[in-house]
Amino acid sequence: MNHKEYLSRHVQEIKPSGIRKFFDLANEMEGVISLGVGEPDFDTPWHIREAAIYSIESGKTFYTANQGLLELRKEICRYQKRRFHLDYDPIKNVVVTCGGSEAIDIALRAVVDPGDEVILLQPCYVAYEPGVQLAGAIPKFIELKEENHFKLTAAELEAAITDKTKAMLINFPSNPTGGMMNYDDYKELVPIIKKHNLIVISDEIYAELSYDDAFCSPANFPEIKDQVIVISGFSKAFAMTGWRLGYLCAHEVFAMAMNKIHQYIIMSAPSAAQYGAIEGLRHGDQHVAEMKEAYRQRRNYIVKGFNRIGLPTHMPEGAFYIFPCIKPTGLTSDEFCEELLKEQKVACVPGTAFGQAGEGYIRVSYAYSIEEIRAALARIEIFMKKYQKEKA
Ligand code: PMP
Repeated sequence: MNHKEYLSRHVQEIKPSGIRKFFDLANEMEGVISLGVGEPDFDTPWHIREAAIYSIESGKTFYTANQGLLELRKEICRYQKRRFHLDYDPIKNVVVTCGGSEAIDIALRAVVDPGDEVILLQPCYVAYEPGVQLAGAIPKFIELKEENHFKLTAAELEAAITDKTKAMLINFPSNPTGGMMNYDDYKELVPIIKKHNLIVISDEIYAELSYDDAFCSPANFPEIKDQVIVISGFSKAFAMTGWRLGYLCAHEVFAMAMNKIHQYIIMSAPSAAQYGAIEGLRHGDQHVAEMKEAYRQRRNYIVKGFNRIGLPTHMPEGAFYIFPCIKPTGLTSDEFCEELLKEQKVACVPGTAFGQAGEGYIRVSYAYSIEEIRAALARIEIFMKKYQKEKA
């Protein structure tokens, strides 16, 4: 049997992740400093772990409500209101999921039909294009530009909309660029979103990591709030990637449709993780703020460092990534990352892992200690000096 032929067409079409491909290479080498992974280097705060352990000790180890523990949904609503001024009802509007990842998948599957177009903003998170394809829809790309600080403009959005456009999947603060959309930026888009009844799936997983506290959700605009599916989770702000816990907030009809998919494919998110998350939302603000402050210091340090060694890097307003331009070297993103890994044993991710619009850039995560960042920068500086000499 030729097994490949028996795979579904959708699955055959999906490309393997450009991040994984690269890290398999890095894993085979010794002494590599990685600035590649998009995951907090902090431990999950102890009080969260303790609450989860206690839930297990108390025997709370069974399925929860499909939508997630009501107590957790109530805390999510309080948190969304307190931090981002969004009003949701814990019974009608919230579904607790296995990470933001599941939320993205069920949001897409709930709203698109085969042949529908979904707008994606490249460079974008690696799971979006496959997610759209698996839902049977067609990804349509808008290439965001560095000169616009990787924001989406009204003209770009208007030009991308066709009579097949059903939804748009966006992510600000952005992985990989660190770009943000503030209130005034969204204000320009709102009439277009409204006019075309565009469903906006807004991945707000990095909302806590917005360094100017200028975070704005498209759901903050009452005219379009019912068209917006807000996706968030605990992985980044609460340093809980392995717990696999996220959630979505949306209009009741959307939320119940997504819950219908969720109940068949997942049943309910992990119970211990849900108890831990309740504790995090109730008493975790201080820890979240401390981690954010550490990321801010690292961001300032790493941006300065990259600019100093000849790789122009804009100051990102959110998330924990920088997106340096490597065009001065004349190398492609892939070549740059491969050479850097081979010569100096530093692992970064080629911008092209996030779509063709990422050519000429690399993604560097600063969810690493200042010591690791300093050591990596010293190696990259040697690489750049040698490279500049070769060019001269
Ligand atoms: N969205 C974005 C933009 C991400 O960067 C990530 C994780 N890298 C996710 C969603 C998924 O996060 P999780 O499933 O851990 O909540």
